Amino acid sequence: MAYYHIWTMGCQMNKAESERLGSYLEQQGYQATEAAEEADLIVLNSCVVRHSAENRALSRLNSLKTLKRSRPNLAIAVTGCLVDSEVGELERRFPHVDLFFGPGALPDLMARVGRRGDALPRHPSPSTLVPIIQGCDNFCSYCIVPYRRGREHSRPVEEIVAEVEELVGRGAREVSLVGQNVNSYGHDLPGRPDLAQLLTRLNEIAGLWRIRFLTSHPKDVSPEFARAMARLEKVCPHLSLPLQSGDDDILRAMRRGYTGEQYRQLIGRLRQAIPGVAISTDVIVGFPGETEEQFQRTLDLVAEMRCDTVHVAAYSPRPGTLASREMADSVPAAEKKRRRQRIEALEEGIAAEINAGLRGKAVKVLVEGKRRGRWYGRTLTAKLVFFSHGAELRGQLMGVRVDKTGPWWLEGMAFEE
Ligand code: SF4
Repeated sequence: MAYYHIWTMGCQMNKAESERLGSYLEQQGYQATEAAEEADLIVLNSCVVRHSAENRALSRLNSLKTLKRSRPNLAIAVTGCLVDSEVGELERRFPHVDLFFGPGALPDLMARVGRRGDALPRHPSPSTLVPIIQGCDNFCSYCIVPYRRGREHSRPVEEIVAEVEELVGRGAREVSLVGQNVNSYGHDLPGRPDLAQLLTRLNEIAGLWRIRFLTSHPKDVSPEFARAMARLEKVCPHLSLPLQSGDDDILRAMRRGYTGEQYRQLIGRLRQAIPGVAISTDVIVGFPGETEEQFQRTLDLVAEMRCDTVHVAAYSPRPGTLASREMADSVPAAEKKRRRQRIEALEEGIAAEINAGLRGKAVKVLVEGKRRGRWYGRTLTAKLVFFSHGAELRGQLMGVRVDKTGPWWLEGMAFEE
C-alpha cells in the first residue's frame, strides 16, 4: 500500500483543491496518512499571501530535503501560490522536489499522469467546498494572488451543477462555492451568467439543503444580488465581505474600488434585504503610510458595522505587487501588532455580544463531525455549535437550544427537528 500526505496552507481554495487531490490519489490506490515520514508521496499545497506563510512554506520545503535524502524513493510535489510561471527557478532552488504544478492545475496533472478517475471526494463531508472561479482580475495593490493564480476563469454553470448533483448523491448536504471573488463569477463565460443565476440553478437540486459562497468583493455585490440571496431559500444568510480599511485614502492606495461610506451603505442595504444576515470581514492594519488617524477610522468602522467575525492581518509586502514596488513599508512591526490586537479585542467584545443574543434560542445545525467527544456543526449564519448526543448524527440537521455562548462558538442541547 502506498501512502500520501498533503500539507495544506492558506485559503478555502487550497483546502478545496487538496480535498480533490486526495480523492484522486485514493482512486489511484494511495491511502492518506497523517505522518509525513511514512508517506510515499508528499504534496505541499502552499500559500504565500503573507510573508510569514511564505516563510513557513519554504522552511517546510527545506526540511523535506533531509527526508528525501534518507528515502530517495519519496516523491515530493508542490502546488499552490508558491508556484508561479517561473517553475525553472523553483526547480533550481529545490532540486529535491519532483513536481511543481500551479494552483488549480489538478486536471492538467491528471492528464499528465494519464490515469483515469475523478477528483471528487468519494465520501464528501456533509459540508463540501466547490471551486467555481479561479484567479482574480482586481489587482489590489498589496495582493500576490492575481500574479500566482492568474486572471479570472469561471467554470461553466452546467459543470458546477453536475458536480454538485454528484456530491449530493455521495452524501454532501451543503456546498460552499469558493473563489477569490465569487461575485464576479461568469463574466468570462458565453452568455455571461452571474452568481445569482448559478445559485438559482443550485437551489433546485433535490437533496441539497444549504448553499454558501465566499469570498465576495464589496464592489461587486449588487442590490439585485442581495434580493436573489433573500429569495433563494437554500442560500445561507451569510456573506464574507472584506473591508480591508475604513480610510478612503488607504482604500484608494489599496486599489479596492470603494470608499468607507460605500461599504457602510452596502452593509445597510444587505441587512435590510436579508434580515438576520451574518457578515464576516477582513481588515489589514499597518498598510504603507497608515497613520494613527487612518487606523482609527478603520477601528471606528469596525465598531459601527458590528460584523459577526473580523479577520485581521498585519500588512507585509509581497514582492511583485504594486505596494511592495512603490510604497515604503513604513509602519513598524510592533505598531502593526498593537493595531491588530486593538481590532481583535474590539471584535471579541462585539462577537461575544452578538452571540449572547442567541442564548435560549433554537438554531438549526448541520452536523459535520465530532471533536473531543462532542458533535459540531454550523448554523445558517455559520456559527460554530457544539453539543452532546449519543446517536450517530453526521450529515443530519439537528435543532439545538443554545445555552452557552462565547465570541467564536455556541453550546447547547439537541432536540429532534
Ligand atoms: S480581490 Fe484583491 S485581495 Fe482579493 S484576491 Fe483579488 S487582488 Fe487579492
